[in-house]
Amino acid sequence: MSISGTDTAPARTGPAPAPDPLLVVRDLRVRFTRDGVPVHAVNGLSYSVAPGRTLAVIGESGSGKSVSSRALLGLLPESARITGSATFDGTELIGMPEREMRGRRGSDIAMVFQDPARSLNPTMRIGNQITEAVRVHADVDARVARERAVELLTLVRLPAPERRFFEYPHQLSGGMRQRVMIAIALAGQPRLLIADEATTALDVTTQAQIMELLAELQQRLGTAVVMISHDLGLAASYADDVLVMYAGRAVEYAPAPTLFGAVRMPYTAALLGAIPLLDRPSHTLLPVIPGQPPDLRALPEGCPFRPRCASSDDQCLTEPPLTEHEPGHRWACWHPEPGPGTDREEDRR
Ligand code: SF4
Repeated sequence: MSISGTDTAPARTGPAPAPDPLLVVRDLRVRFTRDGVPVHAVNGLSYSVAPGRTLAVIGESGSGKSVSSRALLGLLPESARITGSATFDGTELIGMPEREMRGRRGSDIAMVFQDPARSLNPTMRIGNQITEAVRVHADVDARVARERAVELLTLVRLPAPERRFFEYPHQLSGGMRQRVMIAIALAGQPRLLIADEATTALDVTTQAQIMELLAELQQRLGTAVVMISHDLGLAASYADDVLVMYAGRAVEYAPAPTLFGAVRMPYTAALLGAIPLLDRPSHTLLPVIPGQPPDLRALPEGCPFRPRCASSDDQCLTEPPLTEHEPGHRWACWHPEPGPGTDREEDRR
């Protein structure tokens, strides 16, 4: 991989043998204790991501999507109890000593957060912040680090990078600041980028530009991306694979074309129904998912989506496991949405 992106990743043009996964998460569990009550924020999460692929982890606030990714990088408070396994290129991350983890953050795995205004140092020129990031990961002198910083600003398509190098964060728009954060994340040439609601604070146009940039960089650098979002629409546009989380669990997991070809879990269907559509008649109310996300300290018996689900019945008092019901398509539901060519009654039989 090179910062200038001259090495090209193979284009996704046709069926090719799937590369070995770079990140493999198995039965990840994160538990906090709040007011003496255990809170199971992540409950048996498993997934994998291969180089050059984008996995979208989708869910509402409190679904465990951000907690699970922070657990991989050792970014949770010490009070968090983390079990299970997460291997990066075969090396176990869970339980890795902080000193070793610090060496991997940024160089193996980098993270881009939602709010660049809070992540950037407001009193430091952006060029110096990127130069500093380059020197954390590479033993180079100030001149070389500065050249790489300008290269990175060019790579993330910041307009007039030589001039912007000397500007402060407050002189940039929100979209430009997020480009700077991506440049900092790429300074260590990571093989895995975790984008945690990285475009949520941006307007729709800038959001699309940043997502296009991430997709383009991924093609050029072969980076694996875990995109954490509440927005199933973004997953439809940019993800190769989609994992939907609810109450700390994976409730549907499939390659994006499979999942969007036939959503099976009622919660995923509800999320999909809540996406604003351009062809929706004006002045019609946007459908919302009824009820509230669950309180993790007091989950309902059985399926955690039961209080909000129109399809629930007594069988749902037992929690459904995440099961591969069709090739590559896993869901956790006793009464899934109808698949292609079936109706709900057939599915129930
Ligand atoms: S298991 Fe039951 S309550 Fe849960 S999503 Fe499926 S139908 Fe709804």
